[in-house]
Amino acid sequence: MPDPTPTAEPAPHETATVPMSLGARVATLVAILGPLAGLAVAAALFWGRGFTWVDLGLLVGMYLLTALGITVGYHRLFVHRSFETNIVVKFVFAVLGSMAVQGSLLKWVALHRRHHQHSDQVDDPHTPHHQGPGILGWLRGYWRAHIGWLFEPEPADLPRYVPDLEKSRALRVASILFPVWIVLGLVIPAVLGGLLSGTWMGVWTGFIWGGLVRLFLVHHVTWSVNSACHLWGLRPYRSGDESRNNAVFGVLALGEGWHNTHHAFPTSARHGLRWWQIDLTYEVIRALELVGLAWDVKLPSKQAQVERETHAETEPSGLSSGSRRGLC
Ligand SMILES: [Zn+2]
Ligand SMILES: [Zn+2]
Repeated sequence: MPDPTPTAEPAPHETATVPMSLGARVATLVAILGPLAGLAVAAALFWGRGFTWVDLGLLVGMYLLTALGITVGYHRLFVHRSFETNIVVKFVFAVLGSMAVQGSLLKWVALHRRHHQHSDQVDDPHTPHHQGPGILGWLRGYWRAHIGWLFEPEPADLPRYVPDLEKSRALRVASILFPVWIVLGLVIPAVLGGLLSGTWMGVWTGFIWGGLVRLFLVHHVTWSVNSACHLWGLRPYRSGDESRNNAVFGVLALGEGWHNTHHAFPTSARHGLRWWQIDLTYEVIRALELVGLAWDVKLPSKQAQVERETHAETEPSGLSSGSRRGLC
């Protein structure tokens, strides 16, 4: 399976970084603590008046839409180019991914390509490893991979990871308008909550459940792929790093928790390669393919899978995906 992801020059160890501005730090803190505050309000509301079907529908619906924005769009389409589609579908997924409030399209894609290039080495932006020995080092690593890395200085060379996306005016615009999509992702559930319940209280609870609580879940599930899925789980394939298949996040992260498989076959549109490995993201890509909105859907051959199994005796031969030095 040829690796279509544009390659970058091998990065020197410890590339230059750009310090994070105070404004960016405050914005990141608000993006993390806002959803947490929303969760507290939701718990208080739940205690006082229970939970309506509208609230539940907005929570589940907005979770699926924005999480798929990350998994189908940001990750499998834009980072790894595991399938191809038209620019309208690309723009829609760029907007949905932005509504998950995990960074603009170009920045997210650049950082994730860097993660694959240096997976679990010191230049990996969010590896949980290399944080010292013992339980303290483990705890430091877990915190760093989950949230801490969001406050670290940014590599100065991020633009060199996304020349393909920079070429598209529509995607550049989608990325620049990131703050607009954030607001839209909070306004939509609030408006729907009001319309569906016919009350002002519905506007408020729609904002809380479909906006903030949904963001809390999407954030921590995605970050768990960075933290938990590089620490806990099985390693059926040789991937050259510490990535793991973790069934809990396989389900919650809509297929992204089959993370060892993903690191072994980064350009594969399907992460759950076994029939029992639930991978909702791949099902969505398949549905898009069925209606003609996705094509060139990439999957590893059976032979490539067998050669990469951890108990396989032969070295993987002729595999372009999963290369330790390759971009993905
Ligand atoms: Zn990873
Ligand atoms: Zn990836």
